[in-house]
Amino acid sequence: MTATTSSRLRTEVPGPESRALHLRRTSAVAAGVGSVLPAYVTSASGGLLTDADGNTLIDLGSGIAVTNVGHAAPAVVDRVREQAERFTHTCFMITPYEGYVEVCETLNQLTPGDHEKRSVLFNSGAEAVENAVKIARVATGRQAVVVFDHAYHGRTNLTMALTAKSVPYKHGFGPFAPEVYRVPGSYPCHDGLTGEDAAAAAIDRIEKQLGPGSVAAIVIEPIQGEGGFIEPAPGFLPALSRWCEANGAVFVADEVQTGFCRTGAWFASEHEDVVPDMIATAKGIAGGLPLAAVTGRAELMDAVPPGGLGGTYGGNPIACAAALGAIETMRTENLADAAKSIGDTVLPRLRAVAQQTGVIGDVRGRGAMLAVEFVRPGTPEPDPDLTKRVAAACHAAGVVVLTCGTYGNVVRLLPPLTMPADLLDEGLSVLETSIREEASR
Ligand SMILES: *Cc1c(COP(=O)(O)O)cnc(C)c1O
Repeated sequence: MTATTSSRLRTEVPGPESRALHLRRTSAVAAGVGSVLPAYVTSASGGLLTDADGNTLIDLGSGIAVTNVGHAAPAVVDRVREQAERFTHTCFMITPYEGYVEVCETLNQLTPGDHEKRSVLFNSGAEAVENAVKIARVATGRQAVVVFDHAYHGRTNLTMALTAKSVPYKHGFGPFAPEVYRVPGSYPCHDGLTGEDAAAAAIDRIEKQLGPGSVAAIVIEPIQGEGGFIEPAPGFLPALSRWCEANGAVFVADEVQTGFCRTGAWFASEHEDVVPDMIATAKGIAGGLPLAAVTGRAELMDAVPPGGLGGTYGGNPIACAAALGAIETMRTENLADAAKSIGDTVLPRLRAVAQQTGVIGDVRGRGAMLAVEFVRPGTPEPDPDLTKRVAAACHAAGVVVLTCGTYGNVVRLLPPLTMPADLLDEGLSVLETSIREEASR
């Protein structure tokens, strides 16, 4: 633990106040909801979370890529306050309001491609992905949905079926929705394939498992999130996008985690000039308020007749106000560039640790979506135990890091894009020390 970090801590983490809250929680909150670091937060700003014991924690997780603009960005807070004072809800399906329309106009303009677009708003990423599939099915008159190994798309019934990993996301929760087909993706540090070859293998599988003209949609994360921050080899996404175009299937990019400047561009699809037919967004969209969207080609989106899409809260006016404030912040503070410079700072330092320790199989990431994959030295075999110990050491030192990966062997970094450089440096130093110490244990 570095001296500067310990000065942020008044007690061990979690401290006595947090532990007391946690006791209350266990007799009130369903056990199925976990918490990575049960330090109960009382306020947050500038990349720091303050907990009930007065400790300040460095946030390298952003509540899973949500607070890209920070925890209480002024433009978000001001617009939320102003909207809450005017009205909190009418239901857009009953009596509409301008904020919803403005968010859709903004998304249509910001997402890749200059074709005519429409958007529709929901509350969560899973709901957005599920609705993208509903729309694709109506628009194509087909049912089959293709997804990938290591995919994560949410926890509703349909999105559980789209998600790859069983424990904890799916186990015991079936039966799952039918007409979902899983094919291999691209995981360059493991499969050793070029993007073109990995795509050819996936396409071969699709064409063998499914007859011509039966795929409604391919649903894919441009960089896989929960599955392990897996960046496909170059060429993989474009090849699948071309296959969709040639075969009348809808290419749906699930940019719920990768969107809104996280990877150094507004959307990760842009890194390879892929123009998705539909794009699902959520997480970073509204500076922490629950909002999600599907944006897509007008002719696809308008295929669903009025009344077919919606929900009581979808596009809530306060969430829409927050989104407009968050997007304004991303623009005025140029957070796509901020994400790039976070990556430029972090990657070389983690690569150096990888060289020194030998317990890291891969350091990867784009922009501020960064990952370290832990392996047993000299092998590609995952080391989830070391991963857990590194994360626990960071948590004890007051640095919030998250883990992910099908094999639980990836530490991922998702700092707020507004994080001050000195704080990022401090958090990173704690991670480096934790890796060195745990690797030599
Ligand atoms: C988090 C996530 C989802 C689900 O979003 P929720 O808001 O948790 O429902 C879907 N897809 C991806 C890629 C995600 O990272």
